Amino acid sequence: MTRIFGVHPADDGGLPMAVRRAADAGARALQCFTAPPTYYNEKVGLTATKAAAIHAALDAVGIARRHVLVHAAYVLNTASPEEAKALRARGGLAKELERSTALEALGCCFHPGSAGDGDPTDAAVRVGLAIRHALETVPERAAGTRVLIENTAGAGRTMGRTPEEIALMLAQVPPALRHRTGYGLDTCHLHAAGHDLTSSPEALRATLDRFEQVIGERPAFLHLNDSQHPAGSNKDRHALIGEGTIGVAPFAWLLADGRTEGIPLILETPAERAQVVEDDPTADPADRRMVALLEGLRLG
Ligand SMILES: [Zn+2]
Ligand SMILES: [Zn+2]
Repeated sequence: MTRIFGVHPADDGGLPMAVRRAADAGARALQCFTAPPTYYNEKVGLTATKAAAIHAALDAVGIARRHVLVHAAYVLNTASPEEAKALRARGGLAKELERSTALEALGCCFHPGSAGDGDPTDAAVRVGLAIRHALETVPERAAGTRVLIENTAGAGRTMGRTPEEIALMLAQVPPALRHRTGYGLDTCHLHAAGHDLTSSPEALRATLDRFEQVIGERPAFLHLNDSQHPAGSNKDRHALIGEGTIGVAPFAWLLADGRTEGIPLILETPAERAQVVEDDPTADPADRRMVALLEGLRLG
């Protein structure tokens, strides 16, 4: 069986350098930011020149554009009950889709944000309407770049910890646009949110089944991370695979599931290097080890 493993490398020196670092880690997929993730970036575009340089780097190392996943800025709280904040986040999400479309990426994934002191159902509807706004603002191109909801660990009032919440968000998108959206699952977030990945292969399969049945489709990507905190802690702290509370075995069970075939399986595990030199295209040693570990699990 083939599995498309990816990493989210440092982008010091620009995104073409991140592409080279991913390839050096042995990855066939890439996750990246197209703008600084701690800003809204609602006025930031991606020039054709920049996109062409990234495409050239991808072609040079043989990573397909459909195996590139953009991670949206963390600050985009499209769920916020504060109107000014939610509107700015909505604009930011549309720009994420615009930049990801210019890259011809699989999609951009985003965290739905927090309901704050508002009603969670209203918050889920606001997230769905923000997706709809992005899809209506940015015309579809041949690559079919999508807006993808990432499940969350469920800290505080954050949205997207259950399949029901994700389904409610996606239900706000009109049928004609629905194929341009979807969701992905992060193993650390699933575990922290209390979904069972660890007791047995059957339990893990049942967790994936529940998301597939409630939402009506399979995940479009996975984030493969171990968790520093225990199951049900609602704490989002990633660990190296095998060094957290999930452990290695559930990742082997997961890779044996047919739903992991053909989609980007991206590591977001801690880097080892404290500092990255801009013109150094070598991978982080931890990324290289993690990709090798997953390749070993895939082979059983
Ligand atoms: Zn994320
Ligand atoms: Zn993630």
